[in-house]
Amino acid sequence: MACLECKTDSPDAISFRVLEVHTLHIRDFSGERIIQALGELRDYEICMACALEGVRAFLYPAKMILRKCFGFLGLILAGMILTLLLTVNESWPALKGVFAVKALGPLAVIVGMLGIFGNVREILRVRESVSKMNHDEAVKYSAYNLILKNAPKKFNDNDITYIPVSKDTINMSPSMLAEKYNLLPAISVKAHEIITGGANNG
Ligand SMILES: [Zn+2]
Repeated sequence: MACLECKTDSPDAISFRVLEVHTLHIRDFSGERIIQALGELRDYEICMACALEGVRAFLYPAKMILRKCFGFLGLILAGMILTLLLTVNESWPALKGVFAVKALGPLAVIVGMLGIFGNVREILRVRESVSKMNHDEAVKYSAYNLILKNAPKKFNDNDITYIPVSKDTINMSPSMLAEKYNLLPAISVKAHEIITGGANNG
């Protein structure tokens, strides 16, 4: 099997078995509801080089922060330019008294700053938790994140999410699975059966 990230074969790859969950969101007059079904059990691999690179990216996240915040920086810049233009050209007759247009610039700056703040806080939270893991845990965490990043997220209109088949999930009750992986009650019971090996033909 090839690494899901770099597509090369390697003997020391880390493999994961995951269970697919298909979720279809339906919006009608009574609001939104979901239909859910379990998909296949799938095996995916991440090579050690990609997993280690992933750990490094979590621990030294400057590039990740830049990538995630680039759009928000652009928004802040655009907001500042707009505010400046409207201040300088107060005499633009078409804009006289149009408060909504004047609020647009500051609003863009605020949204941009909130976006950067939220992203940086999340990235630093992950950095903190990865830095407390031992080597094996960090490599596994990184590999699993790469699998979630690369595995299919859509099948037709269905969203696909994944439940890892691991020591942790095998020890979870259906209700714990339901809470952690956003499953409907009936689906969580079935998922529990499949993960614990109770339903080999599932
Ligand atoms: Zn790889």
